[in-house]
Amino acid sequence: MTAKLIDGKQIAADLRQQVAAEVTRLVQAGKPRPGLATVLVGDNPASQVYVRMKHKACTQVGIESFGFTLPADASQEEVETLVRELNADPRVHGILVQLPLPSGLDEERVLNAISLQKDVDGFHPLNIGRLAQKGRDPLFVPCTPAGIMYLLEQAGAQFDGANAVVLGRSNIVGMPAALLLIRRNATVTVCHSHTRDLPEVIRRADILIAAVGRPRMVRAGWVKPGAVVIDVGVNRVEDPAAKKGYRLVGDVDFDEVKEVAGAITPVPGGVGPMTIAMLLKNTVRAARLQNNGGLPDN
Ligand code: NDP
Repeated sequence: MTAKLIDGKQIAADLRQQVAAEVTRLVQAGKPRPGLATVLVGDNPASQVYVRMKHKACTQVGIESFGFTLPADASQEEVETLVRELNADPRVHGILVQLPLPSGLDEERVLNAISLQKDVDGFHPLNIGRLAQKGRDPLFVPCTPAGIMYLLEQAGAQFDGANAVVLGRSNIVGMPAALLLIRRNATVTVCHSHTRDLPEVIRRADILIAAVGRPRMVRAGWVKPGAVVIDVGVNRVEDPAAKKGYRLVGDVDFDEVKEVAGAITPVPGGVGPMTIAMLLKNTVRAARLQNNGGLPDN
């Protein structure tokens, strides 16, 4: 292996320790304990697992968490009423509405109902809009893209003037990641299912973010030697040797690309652990914002 391994598991563990220390400092200073409320609508098993993981992570760092569950047939008004109640609840500093919402609910309207100062997932249309505008700053940045940037920084990636390619343009990963890279003065190309000559475009990347949801799609011959590669994909592939009958692989063919790249994240153990660590960080930031009457202090 020639690439340096970017150990997301370790980097996330260090970050969680910093968050825990920050929570202790706040509480010792007589400030309210930071609190996160989760809103889960319906009974999607994957969403239930994600919400449980978030509560567990909160407990580990001393953040209080409050779980709210509504039935799959909850009305738009019921969901928005709950969000408004949480906006007014002083114990709650951050609100996370677990996506996707069941069909029939208007996701944008629900996200729009979250108080800007409690938008720890960073998906409020105003926060996303500010991310896209020069000279404006969002109060919160979506957790997975924020985790990607943190990993790139830890890997020592040079952003200024670098060619960055983002494979995927989703609202939750690809597009905000591209916006963050532009803010760091990278020259960014965003690829999607209509992109022509994908390998050719990707070969120009000094920084490559793969968020496409296709197992091991990016091959060694697509990658510029020395590139920093962040693999966001989480894909199940059959593996009779594994206990569950499957294993998780990324969007990048790790075994091949590690021989070409300068640095690379593994799957699992790369971006995945960073997403929740960033949520915890955002929740403490929300608590500090609200303690300070809403003025950003960092
Ligand atoms: P989406 O399905 O929302 O978006 C996938 C993107 O990839 C789209 O922009 C799509 O293009 C593009 N795409 C699909 N097929 C191709 C192709 N053959 N060639 C080029 N582009 C293609 O996925 P997400 O962004 O939500 O997630 C991407 C991956 O990241 C998934 O594996 C997901 O599980 C993982 N993920 C991991 C997280 C973590 O914390 N580790 C968090 C979130 C996601 P188009 O827009 O044209 O349709």
